[in-house]
Amino acid sequence: MSNPGNKAHCSFCGQEQEADIPLIAGEEGHICEECVRLASQVVASWGRKRAATRPLKNLLKPMELKERLDQYGDPRCCSL
Ligand SMILES: [Zn+2]
Repeated sequence: MSNPGNKAHCSFCGQEQEADIPLIAGEEGHICEECVRLASQVVASWGRKRAATRPLKNLLKPMELKERLDQYGDPRCCSL
Protein backbone atom coordinates (compact mmCIF):
# COMPACT_ATOMS: atom_id res chain seq x y z
CA MET A 1 0.00 0.00 0.00
CA SER A 2 1.51 3.32 -1.04
CA ASN A 3 0.99 6.31 1.14
CA PRO A 4 3.07 9.20 -0.19
CA GLY A 5 4.15 11.63 2.50
CA ASN A 6 2.76 9.23 5.08
CA LYS A 7 -0.32 11.41 5.34
CA ALA A 8 -3.45 10.03 6.86
CA HIS A 9 -6.36 9.87 4.47
CA CYS A 10 -10.08 9.22 4.77
CA SER A 11 -10.72 5.50 4.43
CA PHE A 12 -14.09 6.22 2.83
CA CYS A 13 -13.47 8.89 0.19
CA GLY A 14 -9.66 9.05 0.12
CA GLN A 15 -9.48 12.69 1.21
CA GLU A 16 -6.00 13.44 2.55
CA GLN A 17 -5.60 15.08 5.90
CA GLU A 18 -4.90 18.81 5.57
CA ALA A 19 -4.45 21.64 8.02
CA ASP A 20 -8.09 22.65 7.57
CA ILE A 21 -9.39 19.10 6.99
CA PRO A 22 -8.99 17.12 10.19
CA LEU A 23 -9.57 13.38 10.13
CA ILE A 24 -11.06 11.29 12.89
CA ALA A 25 -8.84 8.29 13.57
CA GLY A 26 -10.37 4.88 13.97
CA GLU A 27 -9.09 1.39 14.74
CA GLU A 28 -7.95 0.71 11.17
CA GLY A 29 -8.47 3.95 9.29
CA HIS A 30 -9.65 7.51 9.31
CA ILE A 31 -12.80 9.37 8.37
CA CYS A 32 -13.22 12.98 7.24
CA GLU A 33 -15.85 15.48 8.27
CA GLU A 34 -17.72 15.14 4.96
CA CYS A 35 -18.04 11.37 5.37
CA VAL A 36 -19.11 11.75 9.01
CA ARG A 37 -21.82 14.15 7.85
CA LEU A 38 -22.93 11.78 5.12
CA ALA A 39 -22.89 8.79 7.47
CA SER A 40 -24.88 10.77 10.00
CA GLN A 41 -27.55 11.52 7.39
CA VAL A 42 -27.69 7.87 6.34
CA VAL A 43 -28.02 6.66 9.93
CA ALA A 44 -30.67 9.30 10.60
CA SER A 45 -32.65 8.02 7.62
CA TRP A 46 -32.44 4.48 9.04
CA GLY A 47 -33.85 5.80 12.28
CA ARG A 48 -36.75 7.45 10.47
CA LYS A 49 -37.48 4.24 8.54
CA ARG A 50 -37.45 2.19 11.74
CA ALA A 51 -39.67 4.71 13.48
CA ALA A 52 -42.10 4.63 10.56
CA THR A 53 -42.33 0.84 10.31
CA ARG A 54 -42.92 0.07 13.97
CA PRO A 55 -43.77 3.20 15.89
CA LEU A 56 -46.41 1.91 18.29
CA LYS A 57 -44.92 -1.38 19.40
CA ASN A 58 -44.31 -0.43 23.01
CA LEU A 59 -47.21 1.93 23.46
CA LEU A 60 -49.86 0.85 25.89
CA LYS A 61 -53.50 1.31 25.16
CA PRO A 62 -55.24 3.67 27.61
CA MET A 63 -56.91 0.82 29.53
CA GLU A 64 -53.64 -1.12 29.76
CA LEU A 65 -51.93 2.01 30.97
CA LYS A 66 -54.56 2.50 33.66
CA GLU A 67 -54.22 -1.12 34.81
CA ARG A 68 -50.45 -0.73 34.91
CA LEU A 69 -50.72 2.43 36.98
CA ASP A 70 -53.26 0.85 39.30
CA GLN A 71 -50.69 -1.80 40.20
CA TYR A 72 -48.42 0.86 41.66
CA GLY A 73 -50.91 2.59 43.86
CA ASP A 74 -54.23 1.51 45.24
CA PRO A 75 -56.40 4.63 45.10
CA ARG A 76 -58.55 3.30 47.95
CA CYS A 77 -55.68 3.58 50.43
CA CYS A 78 -55.82 7.37 50.41
CA SER A 79 -59.54 8.01 50.33
CA LEU A 80 -61.94 7.78 53.24
ZN1 LIG B 1 -14.12 11.09 3.57
